[in-house]
Amino acid sequence: MDGGVTMAVSRSEIMSRIRGRDTEPELALRKALRAAGLRGYRTNWGRPSIDVAFTRRRLAVFVDGCFWHGCPEHCKTPKTNRAYWVPKIARNAARDRESAAAWESRGWVVLRLWEHVPTDEMAEMVINALETRGYNSKVTKPERKER
Ligand SMILES: [Zn+2]
Repeated sequence: MDGGVTMAVSRSEIMSRIRGRDTEPELALRKALRAAGLRGYRTNWGRPSIDVAFTRRRLAVFVDGCFWHGCPEHCKTPKTNRAYWVPKIARNAARDRESAAAWESRGWVVLRLWEHVPTDEMAEMVINALETRGYNSKVTKPERKER
């Protein structure tokens, strides 16, 4: 069944949900990162694809939807059609682990963030991870006089 069924939501919106690209929590995080003065990251970059990639610092940030990626706190598999959903979400989680392992084996640091984490906390975790890779966030902040 296709063609004749029109949808209330746009196709791109559906695709972004299905593929987990440019989701709302991810866009909010990117906005917070820009506000913190971070530039130059790439989005949906590399293979396997990284949501937000800091190529110079080799930091891979993934923002995982609670439902699709099986968040232990929020992922409730639908009661109907469990034979479909349970293995599907398990496969997604397995793919997430493989993707993280692939990047770690290339010397990257991988940060996986659940979408339920508040945006400012996400941004802080990203900045902390970048600092372990030599990034100095102080240079973008107003200078403080300290002795
Ligand atoms: Zn969650």
